[in-house]
Amino acid sequence: MATGPSTTADAAASRPVIRLDALIVGGGVAGLWLLDVLRRQGFSAALLEGDRLGSGQTLASQGMIHGGLKYALSGQLTGAAEAIADMPARWRHCLAQGPQATDLAPGDVALQGVNLLSEDYFLWSSGALRGRLGSFFASRVLRSRIERLKRPQFPTVLQHPDFRGYVYKLQDLVIDVPDLLHHLGSRHQSAIWHWTLAPEHLDARPGALAGIEVQGQRVEAGVTLLCAGAGNEALIEGLRQNSGLALPAMQRRPLHQVIVRHPNCQPFYAHYISQLTRPEPRVTVTSHPLSDGSWAWYLGGQLATDGVERSADAQIRCAQTLLAECLPWLDLSGASYDTLRIDRAEPRQQDGRRPDQAYAERAGNVLCCWPTKLSLVPNLADQVLDLLKDQTPARPQPAAPGLTRAEPGRPAWLEPGDG
Ligand SMILES: Cc1cc2nc3c(=O)[nH]c(=O)nc-3n(C[C@H](O)[C@H](O)[C@H](O)COP(=O)(O)OP(=O)(O)OC[C@H]3O[C@@H](n4cnc5c(N)ncnc54)[C@H](O)[C@@H]3O)c2cc1C
Repeated sequence: MATGPSTTADAAASRPVIRLDALIVGGGVAGLWLLDVLRRQGFSAALLEGDRLGSGQTLASQGMIHGGLKYALSGQLTGAAEAIADMPARWRHCLAQGPQATDLAPGDVALQGVNLLSEDYFLWSSGALRGRLGSFFASRVLRSRIERLKRPQFPTVLQHPDFRGYVYKLQDLVIDVPDLLHHLGSRHQSAIWHWTLAPEHLDARPGALAGIEVQGQRVEAGVTLLCAGAGNEALIEGLRQNSGLALPAMQRRPLHQVIVRHPNCQPFYAHYISQLTRPEPRVTVTSHPLSDGSWAWYLGGQLATDGVERSADAQIRCAQTLLAECLPWLDLSGASYDTLRIDRAEPRQQDGRRPDQAYAERAGNVLCCWPTKLSLVPNLADQVLDLLKDQTPARPQPAAPGLTRAEPGRPAWLEPGDG
């Protein structure tokens, strides 16, 4: 990581100050999306990333752009399921828009050319769904959002004659997150700078960003958007101490994901929902391309939530047992396994629950932002634009020759030397 104040005061003083309408801290999906949105609205904006682009939660995510139906596994549509319901359609619209798009909502981003890993997402169970969930899936309220498939329509992995279960298709899609980051990052390269913002550089007073020097270059901004994921915690704590403002608190929800590499890991995107004891898929499978043409499976869901207390070896054994239960015909002998521990970073909720929506709150000149889900980034952008609606774009886009740019990160399913 690049670190704190670097050059002498003399060197900094010799360069003109860069004055921005908005400075974004954090180059995950939230910061990069907002950079594009704000610049399109005419705000002069730049972004600081202390590590590599996407190196927090974004490159660890499974890339599902989902409409929340996995939150309806209790057998009813909850607030969470409703708030997110139109996100797949909104992303599909963004994916259809090129650089000259005239049909973009202010909070949307043109994503034409970004690689989609899957147009569909599936739910599968090894037997009929019983009880409340069974009747809910058959109910009229779900009919437009979920489709029960016949065998010829099953994903290839479930086409095996030994599989006698049920498969449903959702409206969700799966995006290639490294490609999304590449797309967002390449659009405003000259405004994405490699730098870690230290908490003491934040100041929430109107018109103030306590003199920050980025690689020896003085930068000032009208508003600062904290999009630093888990990094928001330290920044907000620093700001709380400096300003005495009432600021949101953060929560972490830890996960222990599993990666499987084997030639039999063919592209497969599905939640396994047999014998649920709570409304979370037993395992959530996504597939990600490797440079030799094979695929890695990336496993989340209950396996990752419950696996937090397990060692990596114990977590891998659990994954093997679960795969043998839900795909018993699949030979994965000799597969290589890895695990990844990562926290979800979100605004604190009562009882540590999952938040239903994206979150943006303004305190003086600082906006604290958490999308809470990749899918909800457009929702975050709507909220940010609303919070900035009285702000008039005032400054030209920054020219910052010579500042080192932040480079894209690598997802955990790639092995060293891969891709
Ligand atoms: C395992 C996992 C799977 C997920 N799967 C999905 C999914 O399939 N679908 C979905 O909708 N959501 C999913 N999510 C949630 C989604 O990934 C996150 O909500 C989203 O990526 C958060 O993006 P972000 O930009 O806010 O934060 P991050 O991606 O965490 O980015 C924050 C960035 O800020 C940088 N930073 C931190 N501190 C500083 C500082 N002081 N100065 C400069 N830079 C700093 C970090 O280096 C990092 O790059 C998943 C999350 C996890 C953990």
